[in-house]
Amino acid sequence: MYKINKILVGTHNKGKFKEISDLLPNKVEKVSPNDFGIESPEENGKTFLANSELKANFFCNRSKLVTISDDSGLEIDCLNGQPGILSARWAKEFGGFDNAMTEILKKIKKSNKNKKAQFVCSLTIQWPNGKKISEVGIIKGTISTKKGNNGFGYDPIFIPDGYSKTFAEMDYKEKLLIDHRNIAYKKLEEKIKAYF
Ligand code: IMP
Repeated sequence: MYKINKILVGTHNKGKFKEISDLLPNKVEKVSPNDFGIESPEENGKTFLANSELKANFFCNRSKLVTISDDSGLEIDCLNGQPGILSARWAKEFGGFDNAMTEILKKIKKSNKNKKAQFVCSLTIQWPNGKKISEVGIIKGTISTKKGNNGFGYDPIFIPDGYSKTFAEMDYKEKLLIDHRNIAYKKLEEKIKAYF
């Protein structure tokens, strides 16, 4: 088994790049698709798992480096799990995350009082020889009015169960230690720690 000294963190999302990089061991060099001028693949999978595999495979094939990619998003119970795998697309279609969150809050108000939601993250690591391992992490919570300025994406409207503040009101470290990416990474770590 040869050790991983360098890993491509396969995402163009700055928030995700930082979180995934900070979950990985310090001693491993992290590089981004931008360092190689690699664009993003089309995300046409039907599940978070299919999309994280697709991204890891794409970035790994292009860079020839061990690659870790995630696919993640927010599933809201009363919206039948939407935006789900379309979380990034909703932000694009509504003209940014702030507008997308306003739309979500409007839709929830209309539908009913159930504000339950969950953030889901599928993480896939792929080696240039095609070997891959994936794990999924889920954090449950409720949808809140927009609060806080930290974090990224839908952080201002999500309060994880057991807490009274949104992800965007938490310090970066506090969120990093509990969120869906961390939960997925901890499961993955059990299977890959021998490679570091
Ligand atoms: P994708 O995985 O590239 O399809 O993007 C997932 C979308 O969900 C992105 O737009 C993210 O901003 C959003 N998202 C994923 N994880 C988080 C999170 O931890 N906080 C806030 N938004 C997130």
